[in-house]
Amino acid sequence: MTLDDGAAERESPDAARPRLSVLLPLPFPGPLDYLGFLPPDTVEPGDLVTVPLGRREEIGCVWDATSTVPADFAPEPSQPIERRRLRPVRALLGTPRIPETLRRFIDWLAAYTLTPPGLVLAMAIRACSAEPPRPALGWVRGNADPTEVRLTPARRKVLDALGNAPRTTAELATIADVGPSVVRGLANVGLIREMVIPVAAPFAALDPDFRPPVLSDEQAIVAQALSEAVDARRYSATLLEGVTGSGKTEVYLEAVAQALRQGRQVLVLLPEIALSAQWTDRFARRFGAQAAVWHSDLGAKRRRMTWRAVAEGQARVVVGARSALFLPFPDLGLIVVDEEHDTAFKQEDGVTYHGRDMAVLRARIADVPVVLVSATPSLESLANVEAGRYAHLTLAARHGGAVLPEVGLIDMRAHPPERGLFLSPVLTEAINESFARQEQAMLFLNRRGYAPLTLCRACGFRMECPNCSAWLVEHRARRELACHHCGHTDPLPPTCPNCQAEGSLVPIGPGIERILEESRALFPDARILVMASDTLGSPQATADAVRRIAAREVDLIIGTQIVAKGWHFPHLTLVGVVDADLGLGGGDLRAAERTVQLLHQVAGRAGRAEAPGRVLLQSYVSEHPVMQALVSNDYRAFMEQEANQRRPGFWPPYGRLAALIVSAATAEAADALARTIGEHAPHLPGVQILGPAPAPLAMLRGRHRRRLLLRTRRNVAVQPILRQWLAGLRTASQERVDIDIDPVSF
Ligand code: ADP
Ligand code: ZN
Repeated sequence: MTLDDGAAERESPDAARPRLSVLLPLPFPGPLDYLGFLPPDTVEPGDLVTVPLGRREEIGCVWDATSTVPADFAPEPSQPIERRRLRPVRALLGTPRIPETLRRFIDWLAAYTLTPPGLVLAMAIRACSAEPPRPALGWVRGNADPTEVRLTPARRKVLDALGNAPRTTAELATIADVGPSVVRGLANVGLIREMVIPVAAPFAALDPDFRPPVLSDEQAIVAQALSEAVDARRYSATLLEGVTGSGKTEVYLEAVAQALRQGRQVLVLLPEIALSAQWTDRFARRFGAQAAVWHSDLGAKRRRMTWRAVAEGQARVVVGARSALFLPFPDLGLIVVDEEHDTAFKQEDGVTYHGRDMAVLRARIADVPVVLVSATPSLESLANVEAGRYAHLTLAARHGGAVLPEVGLIDMRAHPPERGLFLSPVLTEAINESFARQEQAMLFLNRRGYAPLTLCRACGFRMECPNCSAWLVEHRARRELACHHCGHTDPLPPTCPNCQAEGSLVPIGPGIERILEESRALFPDARILVMASDTLGSPQATADAVRRIAAREVDLIIGTQIVAKGWHFPHLTLVGVVDADLGLGGGDLRAAERTVQLLHQVAGRAGRAEAPGRVLLQSYVSEHPVMQALVSNDYRAFMEQEANQRRPGFWPPYGRLAALIVSAATAEAADALARTIGEHAPHLPGVQILGPAPAPLAMLRGRHRRRLLLRTRRNVAVQPILRQWLAGLRTASQERVDIDIDPVSF
């Protein structure tokens, strides 16, 4: 065999081709080997090429021959294929190269999350395009004298259709109602000439000193520390903690300015794309031009343009959702993660990863500083500060003398609303007082729709989703029942599907549509605006809503979690939380932390300008530590308690956790598979297996789900254990095992 191999190599011209690793955007365990181009043509790692795969042609990325993934969670290398079985690479694409730091990030993230690296690469090259964006050309009046040229009526119509700005052939032909050949004919005689259509420069130069703020002493100290981190041009992680409205954004923009002065690129991650419009407005006021925006709803053309502008270094600052982590920055100098505590950073579909944690990894690989920003930092970040892994900067005061809102509890047992209603008289009175002072009020309820449950009064039947273990939520405006997990909808039935009783179905509990109905009755003169992800379809609609609020065209805002984000509403002084207890059920260990963060964030919308703010929490469990933490506004003391609860059991962040979600078409199959996996669980010191148990949604999209949790001490990596555990596992076609490293709920 070896002899034949050698002979083949010597004879064929392919002998001169180098062996090449190429990673394809497909679920293979690693890169595949190909033969590179014949010298002198060469390719380098990061080049995008087309390669044959079976009978198809695929785009792939030339990959590094050796892995740099740390040994404690790297997969086993595979055996190299014999050289004579390799096929040559076909063509080099004219795209910018995938930078080394991004390639290494892809490898690490894949190994960390136990995902085939090709699927991570797929996220990085989804928007790349071989063709550079070509400038469009249009027609303007030419130099020839029209009196010296014979003009047909058709040609005359084209001349009349010319504008001051260049128009394309198609535009002219349409306006003049002639064929395109008439337009070209005019060009031949010099009556019109071609000109580049000026596009508004999409990524204009940013001026770091365009309009710098005058910082308070406290802010200046923090800004200075962040700028020094940028100047160090090395990896460092900093938690920037500051009360809502203290100027955290203002201050980290100074670090952005510093990176720009160094001529380096910056990535700012936001948990929610809805936030980006307000953020970019503010950014433009500070730097005199727009930042590049990146998120999954971007149009294909814009996406390709932005990808390329980042790769070529033309886009200096990108603000985006977590997927912006996979952009090919050649010259990254700083990463900022705003609202770092937000669980929206966790991607649950496809490749499961936490945007905040991966931002820290990206920064480490690129050897640049990362700044995590929050008024209510995650326990993970606080633990990293405590362990000395992160630096800690704080802003204690609200900017401009604004004071933090006063938080009060309404004990709903003592001050119940009227029958069938949801707002306590204490709250409605406070809202009326705000209106009397010409101030805005907000009602927060983290539940879309009209009512979370529809019940038959006659037989007790509950309307449930056929595909999920969840109730159907009534959406009265759309006259339907909807599942918030799978999107299933049913028209509202006239009779009970179970006992056929007529008019017996009643809505139980409130969603924001119901709060809107109640508010309209209570405050008939108020101008009410609803802010929910399903009523505000686009970032643009959200931006409009925010502008209307700022312009005082609104008296009462009713919203879901979208209103909790970093908005600045200067005239809002009262926030009422309709159901402060809502997030506490469900037995999730992180529920308390999440509820405090969310409600603290909601409360932070009040009183951000001169007038002081007030927050009222409606609760049936006002003695609960979460409510007490909010009233005393002592976030740190609360997190201290949280830490004390999690430390002894080695729950995150004091231990490591991975979830195995086992799913199958039937409950029996799911149980059987989960049991088999459980029986093969490893017995290792410092490692605990919990479950199998029903997953938090025991049925989702028609699949039955069971969960096993793997918990280890912090110094034990979960990846090699999981790899070994699942190595021999055989699953039937309808069965699946999904791995979630560092799950957000446990
Ligand atoms: P945070 O991000 O901590 O919630 P922001 O940076 O949004 O706080 O600041 C709150 C408000 O105060 C914003 O309207 C911001 O423009 C303003 N602000 C903060 N610091 C300054 C400053 N030094 N000069 C002028 N305005 C400031
Ligand atoms: Zn469903």
